Amino acid sequence: MRTPTLPPATHTNVYVCGEAELAVIDPASPYAEEQVALDAFLLGLSGQRVSMIVLSHHHVDHVSGANHLAARLSVPIWAHPETKARLEGRVKIDHELDEGNRISLGAHTLDVLHTPGHAPGHICFADRTSGTLIVGDMVASVGTIIVEPEDGGDMRAYLQSLERLRQQKARCLLPAHGDPIDDPDAHLSFYIAHRLEREARVLAALALNPQSLDELVAPVYPDVASALYPLAKRSLFAHLIKLVGDERAYRDGDKFSIAR
Ligand SMILES: [Zn+2]
Repeated sequence: MRTPTLPPATHTNVYVCGEAELAVIDPASPYAEEQVALDAFLLGLSGQRVSMIVLSHHHVDHVSGANHLAARLSVPIWAHPETKARLEGRVKIDHELDEGNRISLGAHTLDVLHTPGHAPGHICFADRTSGTLIVGDMVASVGTIIVEPEDGGDMRAYLQSLERLRQQKARCLLPAHGDPIDDPDAHLSFYIAHRLEREARVLAALALNPQSLDELVAPVYPDVASALYPLAKRSLFAHLIKLVGDERAYRDGDKFSIAR
């Protein structure tokens, strides 16, 4: 569905899972014509019925069609408690989902994995029968994943969650943005290596002299156009928070250094 997401992505994938009973994951679009098209698709199914809406996390490009669809089909909305808290007053979450819960859709089940990092209440869905993992915004095949501390993003948690997904040994990842990913291990390993490479760049820059967030952007993101620095800075801040937490970097006012 077309959504107000982060360029170059322009759409969010909505997954409809199950057999006779269906779950709709991330009815994402705020746009009326997109919502009407999803309604028509779901209401046109014969012998299949939507029994729940599930949200992977609280971001606006994942939840903006939830109220409309819940009212249209009279079905409840499920999400992680952290997502529920962040959507207070915007989307009413009827039921909570957390690590270890199982979504039963008749003969079909989805295991819930809590994967914080991109968002505190981020959850993924594992279909053990087919080896498919629905991964929301943990990885993407179009665009990049932002880890934004101001919005609950946590780089250490994100890296741990990526590793955890890698250990699931899935056959296929279904991301919220872009095509299915049929080499999960390579894709997840690349994401982990990419973040650790950025982290190494931060440490290398700080080894020269103490620097502020603004000063670090250019050396840490040499491959990124300066127009994208505001976005890069958010992820850079997430790396710095992690390094300070790891006691591998220290903060003094607006300067970061590798020695106290
Ligand atoms: Zn997101």
